[in-house]
Amino acid sequence: HAQRQGLGSVCLFASAMRQEMDQRRQLEADLRAAIGSDQLELFYQPFIDVTRGRVSGFEALMRWRHPVRGMVPPGTFIPLAEEVGLIDELGVWALREACRQATGWPGDLTLSVNLSPVQFRSASLIDDIRTALKMAGLAPQRLQLEVTESLFLDNDEGTLATLRALRALGLTISMDDFGTGYSSLGYLSRFPFDKIKIDQSFVRAMDKAENAAIVRAVIGLSSAMNMSVIAEGVETPEQFERLCQEGCREMQGYLFSRPRPAADLARLILRINSAFAQGEFAQGAPA
Ligand code: C2E
Ligand code: MG
Ligand code: MG
Ligand code: MG
Repeated sequence: HAQRQGLGSVCLFASAMRQEMDQRRQLEADLRAAIGSDQLELFYQPFIDVTRGRVSGFEALMRWRHPVRGMVPPGTFIPLAEEVGLIDELGVWALREACRQATGWPGDLTLSVNLSPVQFRSASLIDDIRTALKMAGLAPQRLQLEVTESLFLDNDEGTLATLRALRALGLTISMDDFGTGYSSLGYLSRFPFDKIKIDQSFVRAMDKAENAAIVRAVIGLSSAMNMSVIAEGVETPEQFERLCQEGCREMQGYLFSRPRPAADLARLILRINSAFAQGEFAQGAPA
């Protein structure tokens, strides 16, 4: 009896696995078809220079409007694209699209584009980026690439060489989700990033005053190493104030704006800049 039950659950398990594989294969086919269609779109979330009270740039964040499933989050389709070998194509599309759109922004705004570690190992990466800049006519100084610590898990010289080659193009490099990876901090001394993005988990942890020590340490580390710093995921006036007190000069998060479609950016810049001018985000103001 027990044996039959066991067999039954093995069959159930196998059929559930098959179903999941079919679904994945379907999603993969859908993603392949979505590239180059209007289902894919870049949203943009502003960086705020809180010392000047102005929008200082935008991070491009991919969105996929699936015709049947609706909005598929990048946390789902980016890892899929990495696994099935579609990330290079997706990444090139995002780079070109973002560079093209950024040429319409005020010239002092930075464009930041996320780079998957898989793309990073692609032989054509440097060429892809050079081409995207050239096609759009965007100055490399306006482009920033976001990489994560996972790059340094296989600690090879190739990673450092690629980072240096990217920098040699004239662009800047930031370390995304800083503090959430499992790599050692040694890479920071071997490759000085231009900017460190403090992960939103540390910003959230600051809701308890005693946790401010981590953020304080990261800000100290980056200034000692001549890197700038930005805090991600700032959602509340309290987090904003604590970060200001710790000397954080740049921020990003829902408090200022969610990621928005390209068509909304002009209005968004006006809204945020005038909110600062009117003291809405003044440090120390009551919440
Ligand atoms: P990320 O680069 O660390 O981007 C930050 C994520 O946090 C974004 O999620 C953003 O919408 C969200 N976020 C921003 N402010 C707040 C906040 O105040 N509170 C909360 N709770 N969340 C906030 P999103 O757009 O879903 O993207 C998730 C991840 O997908 C990104 O993390 C990035 O790793 C990846 N991704 C997105 N677009 C691309 C792309 O074009 N290429 C690559 N390779 N990866 C991408
Ligand atoms: Mg990012
Ligand atoms: Mg991040
Ligand atoms: Mg992230």
